[in-house]
Amino acid sequence: MAKFSGGYDYDFVDQPPKSLECSICLLTPRDSMVISCCGNHFCDPCIGRIKSNRKPCPLCNSPDFTTLLHKGVAREVNALRVYCPKKAQSCNWQGELGQVDHHLNPTANSRGCGFVMIECKYKCREKFERRAIAFHEADNCANRPMEVQVAFLARKLEMLATENREIKNKVTALEAENTLLKQQMEARPLPPVPPFYFTVYNYRQYKKDNCTIMSPPFYSHPKGYKMSLQIYPNGSNTGTNTHMSVYAFIMRGEFDDTLQWPFTGRVTVDIYSYKLKKWTQIQVFNFKEYPIERGYDCVISDGSGYHLFFPQDQVETEYMFKNGSYTFVCFRVNRVELV
Ligand SMILES: [Zn+2]
Ligand SMILES: [Zn+2]
Ligand SMILES: [Zn+2]
Ligand SMILES: [Zn+2]
Repeated sequence: MAKFSGGYDYDFVDQPPKSLECSICLLTPRDSMVISCCGNHFCDPCIGRIKSNRKPCPLCNSPDFTTLLHKGVAREVNALRVYCPKKAQSCNWQGELGQVDHHLNPTANSRGCGFVMIECKYKCREKFERRAIAFHEADNCANRPMEVQVAFLARKLEMLATENREIKNKVTALEAENTLLKQQMEARPLPPVPPFYFTVYNYRQYKKDNCTIMSPPFYSHPKGYKMSLQIYPNGSNTGTNTHMSVYAFIMRGEFDDTLQWPFTGRVTVDIYSYKLKKWTQIQVFNFKEYPIERGYDCVISDGSGYHLFFPQDQVETEYMFKNGSYTFVCFRVNRVELV
């Protein structure tokens, strides 16, 4: 037994006139029938059911009546504008009520409702919404005929070729960038490492002015600890007025993350003897006895050295080069051993 359905339960663009309504189901009549007793009209299914149950006319109570299709009302109903019944799925079609069946027809051409379920034409027994069926049939269906699969593979190949070209272009660009960076790295001067030489010009003037002299920074070894020497010509602490004091410092360096802490190496410092015309080893700074922790906030973390690095009078007579008013003292960090 088929499910009973009365009039059209559509979503109308404009509310249809009350006069069209079927007074049994209160909807817009489907196949409107006029009856012989009182001339009113109803849906065909609504009045047909009353007639087959041998009931009287629901409006005038006449026991006997005949029915005839009301072409005028049917035309008017078919011309009413409605929204697609799949509007909730976001089909935005609207048209005459008489066109709805065509819009929803699952066998109609692809211009019909995109939200109607359609069977795959290659009989894989899957169903898809009309808007998705073309993709399934061309790119996905396991039942595709050979020529459809070949066309699909050709499209895919073309896509991969495009992708491949783009990746190659990117690789070329990256290679160029890499080459440039390498050239820049090579052009950058290497940070100085031992043996590291530095000369204090005007040594006597600095001594007279009671200055502290900082050497330029150097590295213990390539990518090693960044260091500096501090020289007090007039001496400091117990060396004041009798000795030159020298301290070695660890500075915050760009390779600190890769180094071991604390620093415990040995730093050998020489001075050039003008008397002997050769470099003379003066002191070895042993950081194993005074380990230096890494400095996080400060540029110079910590250091240690000799208050009594070398007697001042000996500097004056043997290690200072004098030329008129100029006086030089030449220092050398000969090596840094990591222990
Ligand atoms: Zn009805
Ligand atoms: Zn009647
Ligand atoms: Zn639709
Ligand atoms: Zn299929």
